[in-house]
Amino acid sequence: MRELATTYVQALPGLDTHSLMAGLDGVTLRFLPMGDRDGAYDPEHHVILINSGVRPSRQRFTLAHEISHALLLGNDDLLSDLHDAYEGDRLEGVIETLCNVGAAAILMPDTLIADLISRFGPSGRTLAELARRADVSASSALYALAERTEAPVIYAVCALSRAGAEEREPDEDGMVAPTSTKVLTVRASSAAPGVKYSLRPGTPIPDSHPIAAALETNFPISQESYVPFRSGRKMPAYLDAFPERQAVMVSFALPVAPASAPKKEED
Ligand SMILES: [Zn+2]
Repeated sequence: MRELATTYVQALPGLDTHSLMAGLDGVTLRFLPMGDRDGAYDPEHHVILINSGVRPSRQRFTLAHEISHALLLGNDDLLSDLHDAYEGDRLEGVIETLCNVGAAAILMPDTLIADLISRFGPSGRTLAELARRADVSASSALYALAERTEAPVIYAVCALSRAGAEEREPDEDGMVAPTSTKVLTVRASSAAPGVKYSLRPGTPIPDSHPIAAALETNFPISQESYVPFRSGRKMPAYLDAFPERQAVMVSFALPVAPASAPKKEED
């Protein structure tokens, strides 16, 4: 699916709504109120329907998702492999997941991510830039960026949430409506492949941590710091905390373990 989507996006003239449709011959796009549904692809009538009632960045993700449905339906090999391996609800679920993978690959092409990493490093700032440029939610950007990061980095989106509100329904970015008692917590996190540590959603950020200062001052902070694991363990890491829209986009660069002999005793 990712290859299909990547090949598709490479042939497009751009990533705006009109350009995104340019690779689908004879398929039209319609915006209309659709109640609870985000969108649909109707292969019989060659039309993609998008719910006009949801916010624009969600419409955009839905468009890329429905384009992925069309790409999948046009690929007999992949389609028959899926029908051989799954059936019923499980098949439907796998197809939906694959179309989200396709959507992420369409909106956040490898070239865009590679360009941002080469300019700003695997950092909190890159995460913020990616979400802004691709016009996707911070958590969508987080997963796509983590997957394509080679260095040992843990990314996180941190935001204020109501104390004890973990069971409440968060929105797409994992935010909950601010109320009087607010705690800065990890809303979403993902690490580069090969990193064996993870930061669980809901992990509180201590008031004394630089991430809290970045949120309070609205200034980016880069410095030696630590990963505030829920267990209380503080793992040393180089922090980049980039405040953006009432949240902080965070990267923790973990120290690279020495590949050779153990360090000699200092004189
Ligand atoms: Zn779908």
